[in-house]
Amino acid sequence: MQPLVPYLLGKSHPAGTRLVNSQKCFRAEDIDEVGDNRHTTFFEMLGNWSLGDYFKKEQLPWFFEFLTDVVGLDPRKLYVTAFIGNEQRGVPRDIESAEIWRELFAAKGIDADVVEIGSESDGYRLGMRGGRIFYYNARKNWWSRAGAPENMPAGEPGGPDSEVFYDFGTSHDAKYGAQCHPNCDCGRFLEIGNSVFMQYIKKEDGSFALLPKQNVDFGGGLERIAAAEQENPDVFATEPLQDIVALLAKFARKSYDDGRYTRSFRIIADHVRAATFMIADGVTPSNTEQGYVLRRLLRRAALHASSLGLGDKDADDSALVRSAIITIEQYKGAYPELSGEEAYQRIRGEIWQEEVQFAKTLQKGMREFEKIAGEGSISGEAAFTLFSTYGFPFEMTKELARERGLDVDEEAFRENMRAHSERSRAGSEQKFKGGLADRSDDTIRLHTAHHLLLKALQIVLGTHVKQRGSNITGERLRIDFSHGEKMTDEQKREVEHIVNEKILEGLPVVRTEMPKSEAERLGAESEFGAKYPERVSVYSIGPLESAFSIEFCGGPHVQNTRELGKSGVFRIQKEEAVSAGVRRIKASLVRA
Ligand SMILES: [Zn+2]
Ligand SMILES: [Zn+2]
Repeated sequence: MQPLVPYLLGKSHPAGTRLVNSQKCFRAEDIDEVGDNRHTTFFEMLGNWSLGDYFKKEQLPWFFEFLTDVVGLDPRKLYVTAFIGNEQRGVPRDIESAEIWRELFAAKGIDADVVEIGSESDGYRLGMRGGRIFYYNARKNWWSRAGAPENMPAGEPGGPDSEVFYDFGTSHDAKYGAQCHPNCDCGRFLEIGNSVFMQYIKKEDGSFALLPKQNVDFGGGLERIAAAEQENPDVFATEPLQDIVALLAKFARKSYDDGRYTRSFRIIADHVRAATFMIADGVTPSNTEQGYVLRRLLRRAALHASSLGLGDKDADDSALVRSAIITIEQYKGAYPELSGEEAYQRIRGEIWQEEVQFAKTLQKGMREFEKIAGEGSISGEAAFTLFSTYGFPFEMTKELARERGLDVDEEAFRENMRAHSERSRAGSEQKFKGGLADRSDDTIRLHTAHHLLLKALQIVLGTHVKQRGSNITGERLRIDFSHGEKMTDEQKREVEHIVNEKILEGLPVVRTEMPKSEAERLGAESEFGAKYPERVSVYSIGPLESAFSIEFCGGPHVQNTRELGKSGVFRIQKEEAVSAGVRRIKASLVRA
């Protein structure tokens, strides 16, 4: 959704007003959830988007037709939700969606009653009451980047969504709540698709207006739809994962259905599949960012392999490597990055190397554990140090402590973990934004201006000029750069002139993905101190071969520098020193 927001707000998309795709997705947030019958970190997502084109009365019937007539799901097993409305904020109930659903079910001979629920806890209290179409509140059926309507800033788009659930008909587990309902977590219902209707924009006075163009953003989980089609709520019973499970079961001589081992089977299957795709995308195990996520996946998988009794002497013998090979075979037809000898060797090599290193880590961690254990109990702090410094998994600490009859302060350990992940989340959000305050048109134009400015500074002041920091809002851009002395008025005018000239020339702004080494060879500007993956996104102003500027950058940008003219002409507002050898410029696009 995020990268599409400018288009949802009305910017025209180069591919037109109807978009569709099927893409691989990875959710690191779900690592700890993996182990039940439906959570995976890697999944394939089916998507379609209408940018001011079709809307509810096309989208919902199409999805229903796909599920019932194409996939062949029994419509009596489908349940749907819609937004209940928020009177205080002036956002109406989504009666339109509910009515479309009622007619669709009626056409299949099903009387679909509409029932009001509200919050998730209302659901557990009120139950289904014979309904098929359910109204839930904003927590369940509203989408905006800021969440519920009351949390949205002025100018923010958002809208109701409508989810479809498949009923596996299993019995409700009362540990989740008194009554079952579509959003119940007991496993009876599985959400298989969600259509978001981006139809409103929040106004300055806090009320909501219709967007000039109304949009659809649909996402459906391929594995989940397959699970529904097989009438088996366990997504690990779908082919790609089932084959891994079968292999592990064979080598471990243990049954997947044996409750003591099911979780380990699932974790290995999911984690190895995700890791295989990450390595194919150029990620290598490390202690930072994606590399760290990959390392966690592989180490967690290795740990569970050992609890299944799967030890290995070499790469050919490794359960993880063998599982990766199954993944390659399953997916290489659809994902060419997995095919070929080079990819095969890299995936095999990285996984095995990480396994070997992890075995060493475990040894070191064991020694450290023995020292701590000598003190009589394991504090949360010590367990966290074992984890963060020695890479020693908490599950191991707990297990070893249990064997020795020692207590582990789990609560304190979790507290340490929470503080740690908040710190790293703050870091990654910062990174995600790429120094941009928001993704409004003005901010995006200033981002492109920022690239033009850096190049102009290098032309006027010299090639020693390197970016040292940046921050961009809708009002102004700020760049810190290496340069020893104050700029003269003449130099500033010269820089402004170059930037404005490039705006008038109407140069295309082009994004290209390439290996990092290729980007470096082209002389792409990188951010000081930043670490980049093996494959990088590069923006060039002007065609790549004859670019005026090339930078490592995740975007977003305008498509043509001419668009900057809509905000005005480029002016340097201020030039000052930040520290020895580093200057700062604040600049904006102003009406002449
Ligand atoms: Zn339930
Ligand atoms: Zn950039």
